[in-house]
Amino acid sequence: MTAISAMGENGAAAAFVMIDLDGFKEINDTNGHQAGDEVLLAIAARLKSIAPEGASVARLGGDEFAVILPTLAANTDTVENWASSMIAEVAQPIETDIGPLAVTISAGIAVQDRGDAVGELESAARNLMHRADLAMYHAKKEGRNRYCWFNEAMEIEAQVRREMEAAIRSGLERGEFSPHYEQQIDLETGKLVGFEMLARWHSPDLGFVSPEIFIPVAENCGLIGPLSESLIRRALSDAQSWHPSLTLSVNISPMQLRDPWFPQKLLKLLINSEFPPARLDVEISEKCLRENLSAVQTMIVSLKNLGVRVSLDDFGTGFASLTQLRTLPFDRVKIDRSFVGELRRVAEAAVGAEQHREHQDHIVSTLVSLGQGLQIPVTAEGVEDDSILETLRSMGEMKGQGYLYGKPEDAAAVIKRLSELDMLAERARTSPSNDPDEQRKSA
Ligand code: C2E
Ligand code: CA
Ligand code: CA
Repeated sequence: MTAISAMGENGAAAAFVMIDLDGFKEINDTNGHQAGDEVLLAIAARLKSIAPEGASVARLGGDEFAVILPTLAANTDTVENWASSMIAEVAQPIETDIGPLAVTISAGIAVQDRGDAVGELESAARNLMHRADLAMYHAKKEGRNRYCWFNEAMEIEAQVRREMEAAIRSGLERGEFSPHYEQQIDLETGKLVGFEMLARWHSPDLGFVSPEIFIPVAENCGLIGPLSESLIRRALSDAQSWHPSLTLSVNISPMQLRDPWFPQKLLKLLINSEFPPARLDVEISEKCLRENLSAVQTMIVSLKNLGVRVSLDDFGTGFASLTQLRTLPFDRVKIDRSFVGELRRVAEAAVGAEQHREHQDHIVSTLVSLGQGLQIPVTAEGVEDDSILETLRSMGEMKGQGYLYGKPEDAAAVIKRLSELDMLAERARTSPSNDPDEQRKSA
């Protein structure tokens, strides 16, 4: 606020730089608030020392800072040089009472339009701040520890995001989200062993929206928890009709993993649906391992204490180290479909691609041997055709899932499939209706 009014008063400001510490919450959680305070003080001092003449530096609250650069400094090259050195300077380890700590920042830069300066200074300042904020958000998304300039596309993107957030909110109330199920097969025997639940959304306004789009938006606006819980609740209820040998896998987002109450919530869902925990498999994406490792480890242990299984999803996409794999008690690893799918694409390619094919075989077989070496069972995603299936089978025992066995299907289609396979639960077999919606109503 001080910063805004300063801009309003002298009207000299030309560039607004919004700065946010990366992962400050984790620093606080891991090292204590005392160390967190020392970090904030040190960063404030560094920002001040490196700010050009005539600039003002302000703490906006929490771990957010702003630097307002004067007109003179506001030519693009100068600002970029300054921003790069600021980011490098801040990233130097900070001496604290408990030892050196390193923290990075993300920054967003917006430059005042000439037109803005006329008339309403305060609203121009707010607008500038809002734009710098959008640019900073972008810098975070691009991988943190960097700066981004504001551009108009960010405004449009933010608008789309707000609209989708509103649609998710109302869609959740109106029950527009539903679980679909993808078969999981024992590749050796060809037998169905379980299903992975995948969220589906058919919005009356937006049409069919892929989970790859709406899950990140729900994560960002804090709706992933309620959304995921409502889907898991329905999946647990659907799975009541399946043969007790069949497992149910669910995907959990990094946000939920950070919620210390998550195991409690899951336990409540399991108890309410009288679903045996041993049949539930929680899939944690490899990208979660970028976060505070000891927190992830505590969470995995709590989940395992409930009796559920925990799998490492998207294995191979780049974040898990061998040490992490050894330390974290995963029950299974799932090789990402981006590698498995290549097995076929390469097989189809013309002669001359032989070398590339070997390379891809190599990645998948390396991941498989890694799992085998650590004695962690493996599931391959994205089994799309027989050639992939054959290659995978030659690599050893594993589970597989993919379009070869059909696309993910809704609860009613699963019931039909299981009934044909004679794999319905006793209670579903004797139930007057095999329609899961009917069963849910009568439950
Ligand atoms: P994922 O966990 O890696 O899920 C597998 C994705 O691969 C699914 O996409 C599935 O439909 C697709 N797929 C399955 N077999 C094949 C195949 O043979 N070939 C190809 N090309 N694709 C195949 P979907 O359903 O669009 O989900 C995308 C991602 O969204 C999931 O990736 C998962 O990360 C996330 N997701 C879905 N549902 C949920 C949910 O309820 N909660 C959370 N947190 N994430 C979810
Ligand atoms: Ca998954
Ligand atoms: Ca995957």
